[in-house]
Amino acid sequence: MKVILQDKNVYILRFDTDEDVVKEIGKFCSEESIDAASFSAIGAAKQVALSYYNLQTKTYQDKTMSEDLEITGVLGNIVTMDGKVVVHAHGTFGKDTYEIIGGHVKELIVSATCEVILTKLEGFIEREYDEVTGLNLMK
Ligand code: ZN
Repeated sequence: MKVILQDKNVYILRFDTDEDVVKEIGKFCSEESIDAASFSAIGAAKQVALSYYNLQTKTYQDKTMSEDLEITGVLGNIVTMDGKVVVHAHGTFGKDTYEIIGGHVKELIVSATCEVILTKLEGFIEREYDEVTGLNLMK
């Protein structure tokens, strides 16, 4: 991952082949002491691991797709939980048939490139477990 540009609190980041964008954004924010941020991404992926949260069973069902996909749009945020950076991202991905798949993004492996705009926010947001939804919600 390379920082292409930093304009005050806004970073333009470039991710390269075989990098996991979700993992690397978390690492970057930890290293830069970024506790709250929002980001968006476009580019091309060779593998994505997506989740769908079943609210009835309070469990995630996972699906990994290993094929060339357009990253048509990823939106995410950075907060902390128990002192650690948590990356939360949802995204859509385009197939060669122009069909779209999407969901909660657990892993995003880059094929050609991925371009991320990340805005660092002043302050601090924490997540905590919520029994009603079974999710770690912002508090
Ligand atoms: Zn999610």
